[in-house]
Amino acid sequence: METKSIITDTHTHLYSEDFKEDRDEMMQRALAAGVTRFFIPAIDSVYTAAMYDLEQKYPDHVFLMTGVHPTHVKENYLDELQFVEAELKKRKFYAIGEIGIDMYWDKTHLKEQQLAFKKQIQLAKQYQLPIVIHCREAFDEVFAVLEEEKSEDLFGIFHCFSGTYEQALQALSYNMKLGIGGVVTFKNGKIDQFLDKIDLQHIVLETDAPYLAPVPFRGKRNESSYLVHVIDKLSQIYNVSADEIAQITTENSKAIFGI
Ligand SMILES: [Zn+2]
Repeated sequence: METKSIITDTHTHLYSEDFKEDRDEMMQRALAAGVTRFFIPAIDSVYTAAMYDLEQKYPDHVFLMTGVHPTHVKENYLDELQFVEAELKKRKFYAIGEIGIDMYWDKTHLKEQQLAFKKQIQLAKQYQLPIVIHCREAFDEVFAVLEEEKSEDLFGIFHCFSGTYEQALQALSYNMKLGIGGVVTFKNGKIDQFLDKIDLQHIVLETDAPYLAPVPFRGKRNESSYLVHVIDKLSQIYNVSADEIAQITTENSKAIFGI
């Protein structure tokens, strides 16, 4: 598959240790495949230096977020939130993410996860930034917070959207776009069953690399160049050219991130 339009990976952990052996080769493969815009979600303060390194190396391609990932919301979460606030005062970020609620790995800190999510949404509004939501086995909990915080100036991306058609409509109602990646190529991924009913203007592309590689690499390390397989699948689902998928989803990403 060839596209002449620019492809945007709206969610990729390029700083991950999984790429420490071959990060530059991996980046070159992505650029060669037409993936030239990478939006980098934060996890917690530990990864900041690695994210800055990446930005310094690829200043025209890499756009950083700041935030505390829900699985990293622990006893010290107030310190982590303070770090995010200090970062926001210091320099430009393109989103607050990834933030949200994760009940899959550990429910111990649910209360703190909810508080951290809410606080970071408020920071996003204050800085007029989009949010990038991580939601795992926690649709009710995430929607409850969004319902409290919903407003004209709250917008963003529901990263790795894995819900039902009804949940997709609810996400859209909070001004969220749906982040679509490898899961759409899975046999049991389910979202491919209804996605054609969701207008393409609500979709952005993402890998979540190094996780969730699309078919035919399912189970292996994911990387941004594999987005072409997600585009192929979306091209079948929407019955439009791969180029159109790339073009529309890149436009959507610009509307969200402002770049
Ligand atoms: Zn992620």
